[in-house]
Amino acid sequence: MRLREALKSEVDPDADEGDPDLVEREKVMALVQGLERKLESIEYALRQAKEGTYGVCERCGEPIDPARLEAVPEATLCVSCKSIVERQSRIRTTTQF
Ligand SMILES: [Zn+2]
Repeated sequence: MRLREALKSEVDPDADEGDPDLVEREKVMALVQGLERKLESIEYALRQAKEGTYGVCERCGEPIDPARLEAVPEATLCVSCKSIVERQSRIRTTTQF
């Protein structure tokens, strides 16, 4: 967060559009935003670890496949629930339009 504020205050709004420095900063900003999202889910996983619910599927309460947790440490759903949720959100998006 502090890093993002520092970057933001450094960006000069009057700078030329072609300023390579500004482009570079925007790239860093996007990177920071991506990392913040990642950090959020990791913090969530850490909270779960504290509560003793880490590695347990949020939806069905079954333990999540350890191989999956290794690949996606912040996973909160088991593979089958994730595919169900993804399918449901797809249906929701298509019925919205
Ligand atoms: Zn599940």
